Order: sequence, then C-alpha cells, then structure tokens
Amino acid sequence: MPELPEVEVTRLGVSPYLVGQRVTGLVLRRAGLRWPFPENLAKKVVGQTVLSTSRRGKYLLVNFKKGSVIIHLGMSGHIRVLPNHIPAELHDHVDIVLGKQLLRLTDPRRFGAVLWHDLQDGVIEQHPLLQKLGIEPLTDQFDGAVLYKATRHRKITIKQMLLAGDVVVGVGNIYASESLFLSGISPTTPVHEISLARYKKLASAIKKILAEAIIKGGSSLKDFINVNGESGYFQQNYFVYNRAGLPCKVCKTLIEQLKQGQRSTFYCVKCQK
Ligand SMILES: [Zn+2]
Repeated sequence: MPELPEVEVTRLGVSPYLVGQRVTGLVLRRAGLRWPFPENLAKKVVGQTVLSTSRRGKYLLVNFKKGSVIIHLGMSGHIRVLPNHIPAELHDHVDIVLGKQLLRLTDPRRFGAVLWHDLQDGVIEQHPLLQKLGIEPLTDQFDGAVLYKATRHRKITIKQMLLAGDVVVGVGNIYASESLFLSGISPTTPVHEISLARYKKLASAIKKILAEAIIKGGSSLKDFINVNGESGYFQQNYFVYNRAGLPCKVCKTLIEQLKQGQRSTFYCVKCQK
C-alpha cells in the first residue's frame, strides 16, 4: 500500500505538470471509489487554475482558489500524468484534464478517494478526514518531546501507537519496524514506559528513514508506478522488515516476527529492549 514516501514522491512527480495549469475537463468513469465522488466536482474545478499541491499524511491535495481536490491512493492507487489521447483502461477511474495532458487516477482495488474541500467550509486542515491526523513527521514541530508528552497516560504499545497515526502520521508498518530497530526500542514496549531520551532517538530515526525512502523514490508498493511510468517499487535494504528468521545485521541474532493488531512486526530481541 502506498505509504507517506510514495505519496510525497507522487506529489513531487506530478506537481510540475499541474501547478499553473488550467483544468479543461474532468472525467469520472464511476460514481465513486471508497466514497462517492462529490456532486458537481466538474463545476468546482473545470476552468480553474491549479495554484499548488501539498500533502497531509497520505492525502494529496491539489489546491485551487476556492478549495482543494483531496486524493487518497487507498490500497493500490497511483496517479500519473499522461498525454490526453492515451485511452483509459479498466482500472483508470478519474482523469483531470489539463489541456494536452491529464492526471489519471488508477486504482484496481478502489479503496482510494477523490473528494473536494471548499474553502467556504474553512481551511483544509478542518476537513473531517484531516483534522484528527497527528503531526507531520518531516516537520520541525515533530520531535521526541512531542512523542513523550503525548504518551504519558496511554497504555498501548509503541508499534501500535505509531501505526494509529493520531500522534504522528505516515509511519506505516515498514517504517515503524525499521525506526524502532534503529532506535533500539522493542515494539512491544508500552508507550508510557519510554523515556524522553529514547523518544528523541526514535523521532530522529523516523525522520531519517522517511527522508531516505522519499529520496529513493518510495519503497513499499508493487502497484506503485511513478509519473514516468516506471515502477516505484524499490527493494530497500531493511534491517528487520520481512526478515523473520534471518540474522540481525548488527548482532546476528535471528529476527523475530509477531502480530500486533493484525499487522506483522519484525524485530531483534537483542538489539531492541
Ligand atoms: Zn540485533
């Protein structure tokens, strides 16, 4: 599934083709994906110029004067910029036409979303899907102190808190396992037992791992295809993720796997306490 780095890589890839361009058409080939498409979406965007793009968590935002198109890639979605004569295929559900080019959303499993937020309803951060999201991990506001303060009275494990996304967004399963390894924290540690010093290490590890993944062009999704049409799947050299039974790259202890809230966690019992 596309994680924060894939969404950011997508945004960086499509942005130069969108910003400053006027929308000349909108094609919706079904009534909706995870949710119905907004009524009158064409009326909102056709004729309007894209002012900017941005991202909040895994939501990609295409910003216009009067509001924003909110795109979520779901489990298997990707968007590309293509010449406008390329015929749509089975899983191509939405085209935002920009003159001779179009932005095409492809989503075989249809868990993605295309929504509209009108600025008359307030700033985009107040949209119901965005307002409860945790802090962005790659901003200066995110650090160990944020994690420490948010966890003094909570009982869940650190791995589950990271995946929940209400304290910090965008730390998916791969990045949670890897950042906990890099910071030497066991995934089963209750969040209120972790010291400020250890949270500082964890926050640094999260930033480092996400930034590296963005640089490498996204890492976790076979279906992810970047704007140039080449696969964004990148076989990264993980320390623990998907390495159950293999020797730890630091201490040679065999990597263990366990289930936490339906998700597999990979960790080294010796390096992570
Ligand atoms: Zn180890």
